[in-house]
Amino acid sequence: MTQTDNTYEELSCQELVELVTDYLEGALPAELHDRFERHIEHCSGCQAYLAQMRETIRVTGSLAPEALSPEAESALLDAFRGWQR
Ligand SMILES: [Zn+2]
Repeated sequence: MTQTDNTYEELSCQELVELVTDYLEGALPAELHDRFERHIEHCSGCQAYLAQMRETIRVTGSLAPEALSPEAESALLDAFRGWQR
């Protein structure tokens, strides 16, 4: 058993799910963003979840609308439009 350099605490799947909206908004601090991507790299469940979230956004044009203010939502939409080009 080797304990690898523990600079980064591994995110749990639940933490990742809670962070996914911020991740998609590009609102995660660099460190969390990095941890998010480390988790995603080896977790097919979360890869599927992220893909599903992206698809939902593409189809509905929004992300969890009930959780977003109108300003946040339109900022988000602008951001996604920017990404898609
Ligand atoms: Zn996971």
